[in-house]
Amino acid sequence: MNSPLIANSNTVQQQNSVHGSYNMDSSQILKQLLALSEEYEEFSLEGNESDDVDQVISRKHLRKLLTALQARDAATLCHSRRVAFLAKGIATNLGWEGIHLKRLEIAALVHDIGKIGVPDHILFKPGKLTSDEIELMSHYHNIGLDVLQACRTDHEVLTILSQTRYHFSGATNGYQYIGSDVHQGARILAIADAYDSLATDQVYRSGKKHDEIMSILMESAGTQFDGNIVCALSRWEQNEKEVFHDALLEVNRLYQPKPFSEQEAQEANLISNIFSYLFQIESLYDGVYIVNSDLQFVIFSPGLEKLADILATDVLGETWTSNSLPLTNKEGTSLTTAECSMNRVIANGKPMTTEYMLERPGGRLINIEVQSVPMFNDEGHLVGVAEIYRDLSRGLKRPQEFSDLKLAASMDALTSVANRGELETQLAIMLARINKEQNSPPLSIMFIDADHFKNINDTYGHSIGDDVLIELARLFQHETYSGELVGRYGGEEFVILCPETDLEHAVKKAERLRLAISNLKIENIIKTRLSASFGVAQAESGDTVESLFRRADKALYNAKETGRNRVCSLTNHQLLTGEEPAQVTCESTSDEMLFENTFNAFISSDIVVYKLGGFVNDNDAKLTEVNTSHAILRLGQTGLLPFWGKTDDRRPVEVEVEFGNFVKKTDGNKRSSTSQVEIKVRISPLGWVKQTTQFQQRANRVFRLLKNYFAAD
Ligand code: GH3
Ligand code: MG
Ligand code: MG
Repeated sequence: MNSPLIANSNTVQQQNSVHGSYNMDSSQILKQLLALSEEYEEFSLEGNESDDVDQVISRKHLRKLLTALQARDAATLCHSRRVAFLAKGIATNLGWEGIHLKRLEIAALVHDIGKIGVPDHILFKPGKLTSDEIELMSHYHNIGLDVLQACRTDHEVLTILSQTRYHFSGATNGYQYIGSDVHQGARILAIADAYDSLATDQVYRSGKKHDEIMSILMESAGTQFDGNIVCALSRWEQNEKEVFHDALLEVNRLYQPKPFSEQEAQEANLISNIFSYLFQIESLYDGVYIVNSDLQFVIFSPGLEKLADILATDVLGETWTSNSLPLTNKEGTSLTTAECSMNRVIANGKPMTTEYMLERPGGRLINIEVQSVPMFNDEGHLVGVAEIYRDLSRGLKRPQEFSDLKLAASMDALTSVANRGELETQLAIMLARINKEQNSPPLSIMFIDADHFKNINDTYGHSIGDDVLIELARLFQHETYSGELVGRYGGEEFVILCPETDLEHAVKKAERLRLAISNLKIENIIKTRLSASFGVAQAESGDTVESLFRRADKALYNAKETGRNRVCSLTNHQLLTGEEPAQVTCESTSDEMLFENTFNAFISSDIVVYKLGGFVNDNDAKLTEVNTSHAILRLGQTGLLPFWGKTDDRRPVEVEVEFGNFVKKTDGNKRSSTSQVEIKVRISPLGWVKQTTQFQQRANRVFRLLKNYFAAD
């Protein structure tokens, strides 16, 4: 079988220096990778005084890798520096010191190094990746590890990095609980990484503030993140507030990208080629290893670790033998010397492809294809061999066309999130898993329906309505971080599946999304505040897709009935006993300085402004803006200092009042008719409030005052 990846052993090395780029065949690239590990030896023989860094990775390698990352994606380098600062700080607060601390710091610095090999259209794609792109993107962890292995990076660093990837398991499956068997360094790194990603501006979402990030991290404490470490981070920030935030800014300032020398640019290019090639191997094959001229393992890829059930750190540096991998011939008996591809390649110097059986843990034999690639130096001496593995038992890796087709069938055409069919399929899979396993992690879902969406279409037109739906889908995608699946159920209804989330946390998540929607600014609809209602339910034993959907939908109905722009949840118990369903009040972690509530008034449109005028007069308020649909007024006096005082009149607030549609209610018997209107009130403090409860109480009183005023017909 012929493969584009296999080089002809007598191909002459082509180095195209016209644009400083290398055009090499695959065995040449593999050779460059091998050369990295030889460089290490040169370096340590030079007798350089070694410090902590050199005990972890040679400075020469570290510099080359970071320079290449800077050339490819400078933003990721800055991110890595901040993550290193955060990881080191958290670890120090947890009592780490010495060489262990240095290893963690370096692991953080190189944790995204594999991004060098990710193709541009994925690496620089604006907006969230599709699930297939996430799958492709996730290879970067592995190729980063491959190259770090070749650089003979300290094994603890490799262990930390290979265990950190759980937090990137993304999408809908492959989700892992964070347990104490995961290296603490990996748990710290995952949190530092998430913290900085959330704090940084992304294409469709601006960076979040510390408090908001902490509440998001706490949301997933115990599942995705280690709660103790989240707390350590929180304590550190509280104890050294200024130092913490200044230092984060400083990290960015200190490391302004430097221009490259000619040589650095060439080296960066070479490294970049190695990474791109490894990315191809990772996305087309299942694993690879490389041995040097002494037959010592230099690279043992993460994919091969999984396939052969062997830890890389156990074999790196060891000498290859015919028993190193659990291979047998087609009959299931051990390989003879002659059957062993490595021996044959060494003997005849030609690349070859062989089929074997590989024994999986538990004894099952699977069909394997091995491509062997010998590497020669300029004098024609063998300097190493690479063996690339493909698991034939699971067919070829998904060809692109097939995955495009599958994607199209599962995607909503307007918003690009999952469609209804995909939601149902995925939920069925999740429920089956839950019903099968005992003590399985919780699963919750939320139903979301945009409020008064018809008004948006009526006011701005259907096409802008479509844009709003796209924005909403985008918001849901960008505001969910823990493996949720976002889908459009139909019309202006969305569903989010939340694996590993119990009802309490799902409600919190929903509340966060609700607030995010009310703060969403969409260019074309500045006049209307968008809001949505949420129904949340947790899967209970015996639930089917239908029963769980029905319960969440019922909760959503309750949210609509009780005034919209709110979150309601429902359990089976509440459903059966007819108990009052749970409703979340407007308390929130991220925006406690905003009070929102709604009431209905029986009043006609022509006297509403008149009524409001009365309220303003009686309460010494100032009207700063008014029309038939909306008014803004100020209550209370501002003093000389910006702080809130002791009495209500010294606690100034701004009140935004919004009148909904006036609905005529004609009474059959009488000739008179009144109309009903929904009045939305939004209150925020003017000045500096020490305690949020103080503000919430004041806002409640203002709200009641206003409500009484309008209700008193
Ligand atoms: P409620 O708060 O009770 O949910 O009020 P609503 O107006 O949002 O609900 P209703 O179910 O009465 O109307 C839904 C509207 O959503 C009607 C329809 O015009 C609009 N809609 C549904 N699908 C689409 C779509 O794909 N694009 C646009 N622009 N509008 C849509
Ligand atoms: Mg609807
Ligand atoms: Mg609606």
